[in-house]
Amino acid sequence: MYDHDNIFAKILREEIPCNKVHEDEHSLFFHDINPQAKIHILGIPKFPCIDYYEFISVADEKTLIAFFNSVNYVIQKLDIKKSGFRIISNSGEHGGQEVPHFHVHILAGEKIGSLV
Ligand code: AMP
Repeated sequence: MYDHDNIFAKILREEIPCNKVHEDEHSLFFHDINPQAKIHILGIPKFPCIDYYEFISVADEKTLIAFFNSVNYVIQKLDIKKSGFRIISNSGEHGGQEVPHFHVHILAGEKIGSLV
């Protein structure tokens, strides 16, 4: 069950601030408060859903495409396409997810350490 009081829901309702990179009808991108790389952006859909699996399962195609197109837009805006980046989405306990609103981490700006 989606928790409407999670921190990203509060950011979407502008109850707490964020350092915004991009916002459009379907999505919001902002700097992670505890960056793990020189560039560490979080991208969230405005659609309330817990994780990647739920987003893909429940959101309609237009919402899905709009969100991932916005990820591409941000990659272009940050000028990290050529140098490279890593996109991560944690889910659940084993995935190490802290905030239960689907989000992607976009890590870039330096060589990201190997995990997989
Ligand atoms: P995850 O572990 O995938 O759920 O990642 C949650 C991320 O949200 C972590 O990298 C946190 O540093 C980040 N975070 C938590 N609160 C905030 C906030 N208020 N503004 C920006 N980033 C946040």
